[in-house]
Amino acid sequence: MKLGTARIVVWCLMALVVFLGIIALVVQKPITYILMILALAAELIMFFGFIRCPHCGRHLDRAGMNAEIEFCPFCGESLKEENE
Ligand SMILES: [Zn+2]
Repeated sequence: MKLGTARIVVWCLMALVVFLGIIALVVQKPITYILMILALAAELIMFFGFIRCPHCGRHLDRAGMNAEIEFCPFCGESLKEENE
């Protein structure tokens, strides 16, 4: 998966977690908490699994979530995708 795509998926999951969190507070049903935890788990898996440098493969952490980041802080290679 491309870094740009992974970033969008993580942002969407993050929004989903917040949304489900609000729903859970309003409806007070265990299922909404379970769905929120599942969305959070998916977000963390995507974040740690796919927010990586395509060159050295190191996890980019929160810096990798910033679309403005141009170079990997570990290997210095460009993170801009060629077909963008
Ligand atoms: Zn790198």
